[in-house]
Amino acid sequence: MEQNLHIYNSINRQKEVFTPITPGHVGLYVCGPTVYSDVHLGNVRTFMTFDVVYRYLSFIGYKVRYVRNITDVGHLTGDSDDGEDKIAKKAKLENLEPMEVVQKYTNGFHDVMRIFNILNPSIEPTATAHIIEQIEMIQAIMANGYAYESNGSVYFDVRKFSEKYPYGKLSGRVIDDLYTNTRELDGQDEKRDSLDFALWKKADDSHLMKWQSPWGVGFPGWHIECSVMSTKYLGKSFDIHGGGMDLKFPHHECEIAQNVGATGHEPVRYWMHGNMLTVNGRKMAKSDGNGFTPEELITGNHKLLDKGYSAMTVRFFFLMGHYASTLDFSNEALQAAEKGYRRMCAAMKLIAGIQPSPASSFDVTQWRNACYDAMNDDFNTPIVISQLFEGVRVINSTKEGSITLTAADIALLKSTFEDFFYRVMGLQDEEGKENSQLTDSLMQMILNMRAEAKANKDWPTSDKLRDALAAINVQIKDSKEGTSWTYEG
Ligand code: AMP
Ligand code: ZN
Repeated sequence: MEQNLHIYNSINRQKEVFTPITPGHVGLYVCGPTVYSDVHLGNVRTFMTFDVVYRYLSFIGYKVRYVRNITDVGHLTGDSDDGEDKIAKKAKLENLEPMEVVQKYTNGFHDVMRIFNILNPSIEPTATAHIIEQIEMIQAIMANGYAYESNGSVYFDVRKFSEKYPYGKLSGRVIDDLYTNTRELDGQDEKRDSLDFALWKKADDSHLMKWQSPWGVGFPGWHIECSVMSTKYLGKSFDIHGGGMDLKFPHHECEIAQNVGATGHEPVRYWMHGNMLTVNGRKMAKSDGNGFTPEELITGNHKLLDKGYSAMTVRFFFLMGHYASTLDFSNEALQAAEKGYRRMCAAMKLIAGIQPSPASSFDVTQWRNACYDAMNDDFNTPIVISQLFEGVRVINSTKEGSITLTAADIALLKSTFEDFFYRVMGLQDEEGKENSQLTDSLMQMILNMRAEAKANKDWPTSDKLRDALAAINVQIKDSKEGTSWTYEG
């Protein structure tokens, strides 16, 4: 398996064979959300991209440790070094404790992940739970001479670092260009140089989230948490680091500099960047008013939406594009995805009814391999989907008799759909889900009617309900905890 998977490595700008540091194991780190507001659909796209990466690596047999953090301190407005903390700002606005803001939006984020069938990571560390480790890494960088203290804050010394190590390689920025493009320091600035970035910031009395440090009371910079949490759980060097394209600079560039500055090691073997969800060509962003929440999407309650769409329709829509390309949101595209997704679900239901033939006129093994080849080619889900549509054509042709399959090939066809549709791409059959929800509600209604009859000592009615259920193989059982039911159909 190891020779086959190719990943586009952002730092080298080419597709490379994936070889993990430890055979059979993969360390994967993905920058998680800053939990100061509801996630929008653009955020969901990035987390779904890495959900599929995680699923596929696990599917082909790797033991994956997947770390996806929660940013709950240090991310300042404008992604800058001087803004206000996004979470503290929200806490003031809503008159909440910062940790109430963090909890509220962390819960909301988890709900959204569940709706889109995005798996939980193996570890979900938070920045505030790693303050000590962040201080320790800052001290290590200072001890190596790549950071300095200034008025209770600590900054990374980019010029000094770049004399020994490359800076700007990931984002393709040339350090001299960066200097000409940044503002001059006005002499009042705490930084020695305009490219330097904060590792630790001094906090004044009004600041809500702050900790004691060797440099006084303050809080960590935004980038240091990811350097710390990735290497703490995955090692000084680890396999894959992912995130949205918009994080390449400065966030990921600074992460590399911090890790190299602290340990002398390049932290990441393969950098992967998911591209943006756009609306009319512009990045979906909360601040631009063109970002809608998953709830608005499902209800259709937003000016950009003609109607509501299900979570699985959106999952299908996202996977119809390659993760490294931008994807433009439109009602037409979602409607096409909805149609395609339903057609595929309907075809899969027909597999069980295909009559086996003594010989196959379609090469199912080759078709299954084509699904693997597409995933091995930098997780090319649009090609997998087109291969699965080829499978839909085969299913329908068996009905007309123009294609024949042996029993073994029918089983292989079925398991390929199960593997790639459900396990690798994480799609679910919503019709089944809706039906089971409906069944649960109806059963609850009937059991309530029976309980009411019993409470009124109306034994003929309660017996009639029990017998009618038994007639359709539904057994009910009364116990101290209440009444439960089983279906033995
Ligand atoms: P944030 O909570 O802003 O730190 O973003 C969380 C993740 O969502 C990051 O990996 C971003 O790169 C990603 N992201 C933000 N906006 C978009 C978008 N429009 N499309 C895709 N990913 C996005
Ligand atoms: Zn990060």
